[in-house]
Amino acid sequence: MANGSLGKPTTILKPIASLRLAIHTAQTSALLYSASEIEVLDNDSLAAHPFLRKLGPDILDPDVTVQQVQQRLQDRRFARRQLGSLLLNQQFLGGLGNYLRSEILFVSRSQPAQRPQDLTPAQQQQLAEAILAVSRQSYQHNGITNDLQRVQQLKDQGFKRAAYRFWVFNRDGQPCYRCGQTIGKAIAGGRRYYFCPRCQGITL
Ligand SMILES: [Zn+2]
Repeated sequence: MANGSLGKPTTILKPIASLRLAIHTAQTSALLYSASEIEVLDNDSLAAHPFLRKLGPDILDPDVTVQQVQQRLQDRRFARRQLGSLLLNQQFLGGLGNYLRSEILFVSRSQPAQRPQDLTPAQQQQLAEAILAVSRQSYQHNGITNDLQRVQQLKDQGFKRAAYRFWVFNRDGQPCYRCGQTIGKAIAGGRRYYFCPRCQGITL
């Protein structure tokens, strides 16, 4: 890796992991290190793979719509699962991670103990919209899920990334950006979870 801007000699990184798979295009490369098992599949074998065929739609697939996510919330396989675990279930949707769970529940004003069947159709739609909008914004803006206008204001005021990146994740003890209430932290589905008690109607 070159470090030319500082005028220092090029740093040679020691290999700390073995390269197992490299996919190159004219513009970029995808490198996979240290994987113990690799399978390269075509569409037919992907559809037959015992684990991968169960994965839900990829949230970053631009063809996935709010309506499809809402239908999935109403699907019998998922409608009775608590949102706190459902949002981390890759069979529901592929690609949702732990920080997105807190951010999506906050933006849609939902609670981890609620199940899709507890929500009105309007609330289900609100949740489906938040699932796609928060995930896609995070992907396009380097992991930032907070309101982008607010992010710019906070940057202009000199705040660091840790202060403006999220609505609630990692912000326990700090004021909610919407209402000023203190952000709380709990464990849901075995993973840490952050919320605004007032915006989300959560009492501990
Ligand atoms: Zn709030």
